Amino acid sequence: MNATVKPPVRREAMRIAGKLVSTEDMVEVRNPYDDSVVGLIPAARPEHVREAFAKAKAFKPVLTRYERQRILQKTAELLFARKEDFARLITAEAGLCWKDSLYEASRAYDVWSFAAQLTIKDDGEMFSCDISPNGKARKIFTTRQPLLGVISAITPFNHPLNMVSHKLAPAIATNNRLVLKPTELTPLTALALADVLYEAGLPPEMLSVVTGNPSTMGDAMITDPDADLVTFTGSVRVGKHIANTAGYKRIVLELGGNDPLIVMEDADLDKAAELAVTGATKNSGQRCTAVKRILVVESVAEAFSKLVVEKAKKLTCGDPMDPATDVGTVINARSAALFQARVDDAVTKGAEVLYGKRAEGALFHPTVVDKIPYTCELVHEETFGPVIPMIRVPDDIAKVIAISNSTAYGLSSGICTNRFDYIQRFVAELEVGTVNLWEVPGYRIEMSPFGGIKDSGLGYKEGVVEAMKSFTNVKTWSMPWS
Ligand code: NAD
Repeated sequence: MNATVKPPVRREAMRIAGKLVSTEDMVEVRNPYDDSVVGLIPAARPEHVREAFAKAKAFKPVLTRYERQRILQKTAELLFARKEDFARLITAEAGLCWKDSLYEASRAYDVWSFAAQLTIKDDGEMFSCDISPNGKARKIFTTRQPLLGVISAITPFNHPLNMVSHKLAPAIATNNRLVLKPTELTPLTALALADVLYEAGLPPEMLSVVTGNPSTMGDAMITDPDADLVTFTGSVRVGKHIANTAGYKRIVLELGGNDPLIVMEDADLDKAAELAVTGATKNSGQRCTAVKRILVVESVAEAFSKLVVEKAKKLTCGDPMDPATDVGTVINARSAALFQARVDDAVTKGAEVLYGKRAEGALFHPTVVDKIPYTCELVHEETFGPVIPMIRVPDDIAKVIAISNSTAYGLSSGICTNRFDYIQRFVAELEVGTVNLWEVPGYRIEMSPFGGIKDSGLGYKEGVVEAMKSFTNVKTWSMPWS
């Protein structure tokens, strides 16, 4: 089958401890490009969520490190072998272009493979106690244990496979049980992934997937008495609701971003323009770490802006299933209309649209907007689409940093300069979780720590290593040692 053949409509069931569970009410999953129905998912009620947590809590995982490694690595291999099937599903339900969906499948392979390799490594530590007059002839050891309760995982639409993998793989690597609620917008990929895990040998009680409308069953995911930890990736609005509702539970919140790409006067402008356009448009601009503001200093802004337009013109935006397409749709027509309204609003405040078309349904063409006042909604809020927005800033690093730090977000950043004094100041003073020199803000590997500060995140970071830590309790034990 090639990329242009659409998969048949999937009528799905939930997976509760491996059992297929349906409901009379179903939620439609629509293809954002042509609005066709690609799947139907059960509309869970709170009692389904309760059942999933209760069954998970009743099960005691006993997988050895070796067994976990085999399951995780087999999952990676199955994903690799079926990457085109997964890409087809992602493109059908998310509208992401074929190239982006294939890339996502290859990133997910890394997540599962890294988790497999890390599960066999014991990170216990040892402390000798005879190091002060208060010490004794003893040693203290640390060991990490899975949570006593169940992990509640809630995931967003923009990376239907990778965001789910970043929660499931570290949880399984640490012998935890989970209940996953994927977004109602792109749940089909998550259900297909659960089946791969069962096929790879995961005891089904360790993973349940419940689906449906968050207004009906969202709070059940946050407040279940058997949930020890809620790990959430999504918007600031829902993240703060979780923080206010969860009560005495560990929470990991990975929220929205408004990441700058900063272009200083000494930058190689061609290279910087390439990073700006790629960073703003990959995955249809729907990455938490997409370039959402380009801060370019006045002295080079005119020349830089021309290069950005040239590069944006090379992108093809259209049918996501066409392997030649560079930018597919955004998640739905409502989002595209919001981005259009924000562009129009910026224009009334003095911005200039240099390239682009008006939104058509869920298609939002890469749109270059220059001279945006930095307080406009287009760049002050998170605009989760392929706008390429430029803000001209004074040739003064203190002012550049102040403007960069002026939003509520603090996820990541990219900087284009070779001046070491600038680099040092950006690393020290940008209020973000990541500073990437000569890279897009979204650059990372799946193993490295990842996450934001301010409104962009709370609690532990993600990335396989940090997530494995967040999903465990550290126990210390000690013994006499002469
Ligand atoms: P969203 O917050 O609308 O939805 C995320 C998830 O929360 C979905 O599964 C949704 O069904 C669920 N949800 C909604 N209301 C709920 C409630 N009351 N109770 C429980 N669950 C509820 O986010 P989205 O639109 O799917 O995703 C886009 C957002 O995610 C963007 O802001 C993006 O920046 C962010 N994001 C962040 C990261 C990161 O790592 N920091 C990564 C990817 C996406």
